[in-house]
Amino acid sequence: MEFKDLKLVEPIQKAIIKTGYTTPTPIQAQAIPPLLEGKDILGCAQTGTGKTAAFALPILNQIATARYPAPSNKNAYALILTPTRELAVQIFENFKTYGENVKFNMAVVYGGVAIGPQIRNVEHGVDVLIATPGRLLDLIGQRKLSIQNLKTLVLDEADRMLDMGFIHDIKKILGMIPKQRQTLFFSATMPPEIEKLANTMLINPVRIEVAVVSSTAEKIEQHLMYVDKSQKKDLLRHILNDPKATRVIVFTRTKHGANKVTELLVKNKVSSEAIHGNKSQNARQRALDTFKDGKTRVLIATDIAARGIDVDGITHVINYEIPNISESYVHRIGRTARAGHSGIAISLCDNEEKAFIKDIEKLIGKKIPVDRSHPYHSDAVENAALISKGKAKAMVERATGGKRLNIGYGGPRRSGGSAGGGAGGSASGAPKKKRYFTGFGK
Ligand code: AMP
Repeated sequence: MEFKDLKLVEPIQKAIIKTGYTTPTPIQAQAIPPLLEGKDILGCAQTGTGKTAAFALPILNQIATARYPAPSNKNAYALILTPTRELAVQIFENFKTYGENVKFNMAVVYGGVAIGPQIRNVEHGVDVLIATPGRLLDLIGQRKLSIQNLKTLVLDEADRMLDMGFIHDIKKILGMIPKQRQTLFFSATMPPEIEKLANTMLINPVRIEVAVVSSTAEKIEQHLMYVDKSQKKDLLRHILNDPKATRVIVFTRTKHGANKVTELLVKNKVSSEAIHGNKSQNARQRALDTFKDGKTRVLIATDIAARGIDVDGITHVINYEIPNISESYVHRIGRTARAGHSGIAISLCDNEEKAFIKDIEKLIGKKIPVDRSHPYHSDAVENAALISKGKAKAMVERATGGKRLNIGYGGPRRSGGSAGGGAGGSASGAPKKKRYFTGFGK
């Protein structure tokens, strides 16, 4: 199937050609036709599968063919609910790209930044609103925005939303929107509570399943390196000596860990920057931009910060610390080998982390090949008896100053209404609303 076989209007086809995409990804090929017919979708897919275009293109097609009313006083017609600010901005950017030739109003709203500019962006009505749940409810509570005439709802990363404690916000939002609407529900995993939520939201959905979370992408070459904890830094430096490691993400479990690794690399003259929840939204975006531009070679990230990262050409993902949540492993290594490229994922495992590896291997259904070909390989660690997961977690927590580990992707929601996970930052406002013009639409 080619893009031209999908019944998308010409301005959208043109934008797709400009991006360089030639064929729809499996989720796009399966989701776009039923979505254009107005059907609901239940999509089991993670980022990296092309799911953003799978929902953005049909929504833009609705707008271009004047299926939504003209934006009017405070109304939003398509709402994309997403768990993190990074993801929200990413989706916003994608809409801009795919909708380059379509005239429409769009805004993105998320917590942790001033609400004023966001109010100005939504109060005259928008075709497309991308939002994190808490800030959306703030805006509705302040009567700056209405979703009662909504036509299309996209719930993105539903499993992550639940992990981050957004279920009550989601239920509130569902109570505010019309029953008659089109609903698109995406989740990387489908545990029973997600199925239950999906059942309450969808009507006869078309079920689409691409690359479930427990299957790690085949194009990722995975390595497991057993190493003494005290030698992890040396091993990291050794790995980064590889000139082929041109664009690298290093994962740590905690913000503190991320800062420590960054200091180490900067000291060793490796261009690197950390991205985590303690940094302001602006600082995070700046770090991401310099990484995307290739000015920074290594990005050090925690799991939550990594959720929205969509950077092509990441050559290596390094798990400096093994995640205690197995699904995080799949999400982490999925940062590389995107959109058809290959990539390398290296996990540095010390004595205390072996139980986490065992859990990960259970989830992905295979053993991660052990790489003993580096100078810091430790037989002692490899052969050491397994420490139970509970004990290992307690040990790791003690080592991180008694702090709770980064459970899931965001930890509990902050109270106070603004969403997005992690601490808020400098209040700089949201990207400006833009209008895009074409011969189509309004
Ligand atoms: P997503 O899952 O939406 O985050 O998309 C993952 C990556 O795949 C992004 O870098 C997209 O730009 C890219 N992508 C999306 N659709 C296609 C396509 N049909 N062909 C090639 N790349 C694509």
